[in-house]
Amino acid sequence: MSQQLIDDFGRTVDYVRISVTDRCDFRCVYCMAEEMTFLPREDIMSIEEIELLSRAFTELGVRRIRLTGGEPLVRRGLVDHLANIGNLPGLEELLITTNGSQLVRYSNALKQAGVTRLNVSLDSLRPERFKAMTRNGNINKVLAGIDAAKKAGFNHIKINAVVMKGNNEDEVLDLLEYAREHELDITYIEEMPLGNIDSHDRALSFCSSDEVMAMIKSRYALHPMTQKTAGPSRYYQMVDSPVRVGFISPHSHNFCGDCNRVRVTVEGRLLLCLGNEHSVDLLPIMRAVPGAIEPVKQAIIDAMPLKPERHYFDLNAEPKILRFMNTTGG
Ligand code: SAM
Ligand code: SF4
Repeated sequence: MSQQLIDDFGRTVDYVRISVTDRCDFRCVYCMAEEMTFLPREDIMSIEEIELLSRAFTELGVRRIRLTGGEPLVRRGLVDHLANIGNLPGLEELLITTNGSQLVRYSNALKQAGVTRLNVSLDSLRPERFKAMTRNGNINKVLAGIDAAKKAGFNHIKINAVVMKGNNEDEVLDLLEYAREHELDITYIEEMPLGNIDSHDRALSFCSSDEVMAMIKSRYALHPMTQKTAGPSRYYQMVDSPVRVGFISPHSHNFCGDCNRVRVTVEGRLLLCLGNEHSVDLLPIMRAVPGAIEPVKQAIIDAMPLKPERHYFDLNAEPKILRFMNTTGG
C-alpha cells in the first residue's frame, strides 16, 4: 500500500490537476484577457519535470491525474512523452481537459498513450458566437475533433460549458441536444472570478446552476446520482438517455467539503485550493537535484496541512485571485 496524502480536515487527496502550459490557441472571454503575456520557457516546468511530478504523486497514492492548462495539446513534446505518465504504476485514470481544436490530429496518439477520458470545452454551437466567446476559435474544428476522439475509441467524453447570461444561456438546451445526439456527458459551469478581465462584468453575466437546471427540467426529467465522482461536479442522470448532466457550482453549492484535489500550476506551484493562494513552490525543489524524487515527495507531504477548509468567491468584490485560469489549470 503506497503512502496516502491526507489533509488536516481528514480529506484524502488522490486527484491532481497539472497545468502543462499557460499558452492557448483560444482566448475565451471568461478565462483570459485579449492581450496575454505568457511565461518564459525557463519559468515553466519541462516535460521531464511534469513526468517526475506525476510519478511523485502516484507514489503518494494519487490515482487520477488531469492534464490541463492553457491548452495542453499545444504544449510541444507533451503528446510524444505522454505514455510515460499514462503507464505509471498505480495510476487509474489519465484525463485531459482540452478545447478540442487539436483533437483531429492527436486523438489516436492520446488513446495510445493511455489517456482514459477527455473533457472538451464547448460553450456555443453557433459559429459566430463561438468565435466571439473564444475570440478566435473555429467551431467546426472542435466538432470534428470530438468526432475524431469518438472514432479513436474515447467513451464518456464530457462537454464543459461555462454559462453566461447575455451570452450563451439561451443555448443550454441546444448544447444538451448536441450531447444527447452524440452520447456525450455534459457539465454546466458557473463562471469563477479568476484573474482580472475587462470583457464583461462577471456579476452581471453570472448564471447559477439552479437557473440552468430549471431550463433543463422544463424539457427533460433528471435523477440525482448518488454515486460519488472524482471531481467537483454534481451529476444527474437523464431519465430517457444514457447522458449524464453535471453542474459545477462554486458559488451556489460549495463543493469544498469532500475536495480530494490539489493542483500544480504551470510554474510548478502546488496549489492546495483553487480559490485560495495557499501554495508551495515545487520548481526550485525539482531543480535543486534534477531527477531526485524523494525531496519532491517530501515537499508534497509537508504541504498537506496548508490545504484550507474551503474557498469564498464574491463576484461583486475585486477578484482576490489574480492568477488566470490558464496558469492555474482549469
Ligand atoms: N484549454 C482547455 C479547455 O478549455 O478545456 C483546458 C484549460 S481551461 C482553463 C479548463 C476549463 O476551465 C474549461 O472548461 C473552461 O471553460 C474553464 N474555465 C476557464 N476560466 C473559467 C472561469 N473563469 N470560470 C469557470 N470556468 C472557467
Ligand atoms: Fe484556452 Fe481553455 Fe482558457 Fe479557453 S478556457 S482560453 S481554451 S485555456
